[in-house]
Amino acid sequence: MAAIPYRRLFGPGPCNAYPEALMALQQPLLGHLDPAFIAMTDRVCDGLRMVWQTQNRYTLAMSGTGMSGMEAAFANVVTPGDVVVVGVNGFFAERQVDLAQRMGAEVIRVDFPWGQPIDPEAVATAHPNPTVIAAVHAETSTGVRSDIAALGALKGEALLLVDAVTSLGGIEVAVDAWGVDIAYSGTQKCLGTPPGLAPFTMSERAYQRRNPRPHSFYLDISLMGAYVGATQGPARAYHHTASSVMYAALDATLARLATEGLENVWARHQAAGDRFQAGLQDMGLELFAADGYRLPELTTIKVPEGVDSARVRAFLLSEYDIEIGAGVKDLASTVWRVGLMGANATTASVTLLLGALQDALQRA
Ligand code: PLP
Repeated sequence: MAAIPYRRLFGPGPCNAYPEALMALQQPLLGHLDPAFIAMTDRVCDGLRMVWQTQNRYTLAMSGTGMSGMEAAFANVVTPGDVVVVGVNGFFAERQVDLAQRMGAEVIRVDFPWGQPIDPEAVATAHPNPTVIAAVHAETSTGVRSDIAALGALKGEALLLVDAVTSLGGIEVAVDAWGVDIAYSGTQKCLGTPPGLAPFTMSERAYQRRNPRPHSFYLDISLMGAYVGATQGPARAYHHTASSVMYAALDATLARLATEGLENVWARHQAAGDRFQAGLQDMGLELFAADGYRLPELTTIKVPEGVDSARVRAFLLSEYDIEIGAGVKDLASTVWRVGLMGANATTASVTLLLGALQDALQRA
């Protein structure tokens, strides 16, 4: 078997997982009906309530990557003909538009320049009575944070649907306090667990107003008793062979985060991001995301004039085993995206990255 290289994953995608999660992957396999697995799903749902900061009964880890969460979110609350307003300031909000359209919604998109946050007031007033208002909390394509609490305060009767793929477990996400009705994430980013599950949460209000017969069977929240766990969810409604291995990894991560303390986890991400962004500016590099809205866990850097973006990325990979990301779409060769997420959100990572980048800029 060919050896898999050991990479330090500082891209915008999966990060290097917490050791607790990786070690959990080595444990014996559990059957999906085993009482020990049912107890594990209950623990995972409780741990997710902690990181989402919610009491929502419908809080679970969906089988599938972040996109399964995005698709489930729209499938469960959109009925054809509904008005869906989307604040669009990057690539992943554009996907929300696409998905809402596929579900038959009348979509009103409110656009903002890439690199800027959404304006909650403009989004909330784009239509007098939308069914859903959607936005991305942490735009992975630009490194920008939008103010979801402000949007929640202005949502009126609409359901607020939020993408938290790059924020959950890295910066504050307060589902109940912010008035978020439906939100999804992925395990591979700030949660520091391999990809494969989509943490998901839905308020009772959203559940009562859901599409009673969503287009997707697999993602129908009312049938997901098997994921929600034995004691907290509705009765098991259909057979589902959940990946007990991935649940074990997420279970271990959530236990670790509880021990570290959620606020300490956020502080660790903030400190690493601040230090990294200050170091980059000391090196004379410019940041892409608007000042005041920069995510600590995902930094976007303008590629300096005359520097070949792809060459630098290839150099980092071959000389340091470091993966960083290119920009998205129009920004492909002009922006780098560097993640300091989960286990990577440390001072040691910052020092390594700054040194390696400096070397790459001189030698690549
Ligand atoms: N939303 C955002 C903000 C993302 O960054 C991503 C992935 O990078 C997704 C959705 C899709 O998640 P996944 O690739 O896990 O399906």
